[in-house]
Amino acid sequence: MVRTKIHLLFPGVAVLLLLVASTAHPAARHPSTIQLAVDATEAPRMILHTRETISVVPGALTLFYPKWIPGEHAPDGPVTDVAGLRITANGKALPWRRDLEEMYAIHLVVPPSTTELEVRFDFLLPSAEIGFSSGASSTPRMLVLSWNQVLMYPFDVPPDSIVVTASLRLPPGWKHVSALTSERASDENERFPAAALNTLIDSPVLCGEYLKRVDLTPPNGVPHFLDLASDNEAALAITPEEISSYRQLVVEALGLFGCRHYDHYDFLFTLSDEVAHFGLEHHQCSDDRVPERTLVDDDFRRARAGLLPHEFVHSWNGKFRRPVGLATGNFSSPMKDDLLWVYEGLTEYLGAVLTGRSGLLTPEEQRDDLALVAAKLDHRPGRTWRPLQDANDEAQLLYSARTEWDSWRRDVDFYDEGYLIWLEADVTIRELTNGKKSLDDFCRAFHGGGNSGPELKPYSFEDVVRGMNNVAPYDWRTFFVTRLQSTDDHAPLGGIIKSGWKLVYRDTMNDLQKSVEEARKTVDMRYSLGLLLGDDGTMKDVIPGMPAARSGLAPGMKIIAVNGRRYSKEILRDALKLAVHSTSPLSILAENGEFYETYSLDYHQGERYPYLERDAAKPDVLSMIMHPGARP
Ligand SMILES: [Zn+2]
Repeated sequence: MVRTKIHLLFPGVAVLLLLVASTAHPAARHPSTIQLAVDATEAPRMILHTRETISVVPGALTLFYPKWIPGEHAPDGPVTDVAGLRITANGKALPWRRDLEEMYAIHLVVPPSTTELEVRFDFLLPSAEIGFSSGASSTPRMLVLSWNQVLMYPFDVPPDSIVVTASLRLPPGWKHVSALTSERASDENERFPAAALNTLIDSPVLCGEYLKRVDLTPPNGVPHFLDLASDNEAALAITPEEISSYRQLVVEALGLFGCRHYDHYDFLFTLSDEVAHFGLEHHQCSDDRVPERTLVDDDFRRARAGLLPHEFVHSWNGKFRRPVGLATGNFSSPMKDDLLWVYEGLTEYLGAVLTGRSGLLTPEEQRDDLALVAAKLDHRPGRTWRPLQDANDEAQLLYSARTEWDSWRRDVDFYDEGYLIWLEADVTIRELTNGKKSLDDFCRAFHGGGNSGPELKPYSFEDVVRGMNNVAPYDWRTFFVTRLQSTDDHAPLGGIIKSGWKLVYRDTMNDLQKSVEEARKTVDMRYSLGLLLGDDGTMKDVIPGMPAARSGLAPGMKIIAVNGRRYSKEILRDALKLAVHSTSPLSILAENGEFYETYSLDYHQGERYPYLERDAAKPDVLSMIMHPGARP
C-alpha cells in the first residue's frame, strides 16, 4: 500500500510533498552519495558532531533519520538526541519542516541548479542504562559509534543503493576497530572505504583509549577477532583459558552451520559499567556490552557467558536468514516481529549449545542455567492470558516494558521459551531418526549453502516447517503452533524431560544462580515467596498467586524489616529456614511510597531453588547435545 501525504511547507508557498507509505520500500528516484564526517573528539563530554554532503536533485526532498534499527526489532532510533540541525545549499541555509505523522522525516525543497546539500547536526550521546544502542554508549575513555545515530539520508532512495564514504575523528590517543577496515588520512581523520548505507550501519565502531585485539582465527579460516575495550586497562586481562574457549566457539559454530556468511568477523566487546548492557548482532561483527569486571570476576563471567555465542549465531540466524517481516531493507518500514521465536528463540538455544560446546560454561553450569530458564517460565502466570505468539507480535513495544509485574505482563519470553521449544525440537529429531540426525542438520541446510560474504535470505513460517520436515518428517506445523498458541500455566518442559532430566527444587542455590545474583545485584525468592528483589530489598516483581502476592505485597514496594529486624538478604533467607519449624507467619514491614505497612506471609516450605536432576530411566541426550564436537 502506498499512502500520500500533502503538507504546506512554507507560508504562502504550496508545495506537494510525496511521502511514500511507511510499509512500502521507497522507490529509487536517483542514485545518491553521501560524504559523512563524524567528529568524536568531544565524545568524553557526550556530544558528537556530524557533517554530511548529500548528492541531490532540485525539488521536494525528504530526509530520514533511521528509526527501525535492525536487530532491535523496534522503532527506537534516538531521534530526540539530534540537536543543532542545519541544512545548507551553496552556503545558504534552507528552511525545513518535520513531518507531522512521521517524526523521523524532515521535508525541504532543494533549490534549482543545486546538486549537493550540506547537513550538519550534533548527536547528544545518551546516558541511560536501557535502550540498546540508543542507551549509554560512551564514557570519558571510550565510545561505541552506531552510524545510524549520526546520519540522515534521502528517503526516496533505497538505502542499499546509497553509497556513503565516512570519516571519523577521535580524541587524541584513542584507537578504534570495526568490521569496515579504515586507514588514517593525513589530517588525523580515519577514512572508511565507500560502502552501501546498510553496510555502514551494520558496522559500528568500537573506539577508546584502552583497546586490545585477540586473534581467534581458526586454522585455515578467515580472520576472527575478539576486540576488547574498557575504561580500565586492568579489566582487559582475559585468561588463556577464556581465549581458548572463544577460539573453540568459532570452531564449533563453523562446525554447526557447516559454512559462514561473512568475510571476517569481529566481536566488539565493551567492558564498562557506564554503558548500556546488551548485545546487538551484525553480519560481520557484534556489539557486545557487559560490566567492566566480566573478564576478571568469575560471577560476572558466568552470568554473561552466553552473550557472545548468542550474537555470533545471529550472523547465520538473523542476519543471513531473516524472517520476511524483518527484512524490510530500510530503516523506515515497520518490522513485523511474529517470527522472533525463530530469530531470537532458536538463537538462544543454539547460543546455549555453543556455550556448552566451547567450554564457556561447564556442563553443570549449563544445566544450572537451563534450570533457571525452565523455573522462571514455569512461574509465569502471564502465560495463561498471553500466548507466546502474542509476545512475538507485540515485541516492538514489549522490549521497553517495565520490570514491575513482569511475570503477569509476560514480555519477550520468546528468548527463554525458544530455548525450551528448540531443545524439544532437537530431541524430537534425534528420537525420530534414532540419533542419526539432529537440529544441527536443520541448521546446516537452512543456514548453509556454502561460504559467502554477507547475504540476506528471508524466510516464512512455512519455510521453517518445510526445513524441519526435510530433516525428519513429522507434524512440525502442529508442534510449533501448539506451543505458540498455548495458554497453559506451565512451561513446555518436554525437551528437558525427553533429554533425560527433571526440573526439581532444593533449599540451596545452584552455583550459577549465586553468580547471577552477585552479578545482577538481585535476590531471587521467586520459587518460594514469589518475589524477585533488588539488593536493597526493592521488589522488582511479585508473582500473582504466590505467598508474597497473596499477602498484599506488590512490585515497587521495599522490604524494611523481616520479623522485626532490619532487612538484609541473609536475614530474609534465615527467616524462611526458621519458618519451616514454626507455625507463626513471616512478618514483613514494607515501604510503599511514603507509607509503611506490615504484611503477614503464611509460608513454611523453606527456600526453593531450581536444579536439573538426572532421570536414570532415560539416556542423557542433553549432555550429548552440549558436548564439544557433538554432532551425529
Ligand atoms: Zn538476539
